[in-house]
Amino acid sequence: MSARILDGNALSAQLRGRLADDAAALAARGVQPCLAVILVGGDPASSVYVRNKVAACEKAGIKSLRFDYPQDADPASVLERIAALNADPAVHGILVQLPLPRQFNEKAVLEAIAVGKDVDGFHAENVGRLSQGQEAFFPCTPHGVMKMLESAGIAVKGADAVVIGRSNIVGKPMAVLLTNAGATVTVCHSQTRDLAAHTRRADIVIAAVGRPRFVTGDMVKPGAAVIDVGINRIQDGPEAGKLCGDVDFASVSAVAGAISPVPGGVGPMTITMLLANTIEAARRVADKR
Ligand code: NAD
Repeated sequence: MSARILDGNALSAQLRGRLADDAAALAARGVQPCLAVILVGGDPASSVYVRNKVAACEKAGIKSLRFDYPQDADPASVLERIAALNADPAVHGILVQLPLPRQFNEKAVLEAIAVGKDVDGFHAENVGRLSQGQEAFFPCTPHGVMKMLESAGIAVKGADAVVIGRSNIVGKPMAVLLTNAGATVTVCHSQTRDLAAHTRRADIVIAAVGRPRFVTGDMVKPGAAVIDVGINRIQDGPEAGKLCGDVDFASVSAVAGAISPVPGGVGPMTITMLLANTIEAARRVADKR
């Protein structure tokens, strides 16, 4: 079997076209959607992510404000900036790029962001609302995965789904979104005994591990949908410097029914959902006026 490729670039292009129309319609109503992005330190991967997010905003007609701080920044100055952005009615979304340097209390920073501007969906109130099935800003990566499954016509209701990884930004919210959509979900992690016994039973496997090519073809049920969230840079050997996912594309694509590639799968969908959340935040403001 050769798996169907779930093309995140193509789906993103389609969705971003619609989001650009939405942004233009809001601007015509006098509300120019605006995202503020805060980057602390010069981590190369974080810098690339922020650059891509800002560029995607500009292309979709979303204004972006970027605030860069040095690695040794005083957390108080970042918290002051967040307070000012919370109070600024022209700013609809606030994103603090993670990870933060060691002197920061990440939780305190995320909770300083106004819930209505928390377009990353990491504030405890948005997390709680998501887990209760209430309206909320959903974290962008798992939300992007749900959109991919939906657009590919992959049935989630009643499906057996395995999420590998239990982080607050991917694994846990992914499991909640799948549960809310009617899947029977197993969350696997570093303490899981016999991971392959779980993945081999799954109709849907979501890999969010952070280990290059961790999921191999022998771990996947024939015909399953496999979504690769991982972004890893290969360190050594002839492929050094190249990006790869958490899924061994060659062996898994020979067994699975559908697979998302890296790059060009979940990555662009994450940014697309960030744009969608920012436009939704701006729409709420426009509707209240
Ligand atoms: P994380 O390090 O916070 O979490 C990794 C999870 O994998 C942990 O819960 C851990 O228990 C689990 N794990 C580790 N070793 C394991 C093993 N041997 N067996 C089973 N589980 C194991 O990482 P994260 O922030 O959730 O990110 C995961 C991956 O997704 C990374 O590659 C990251 O770069 C990528 N990512 C991609 C996007 C995107 O937009 N595509 C967004 C966020 C993260």
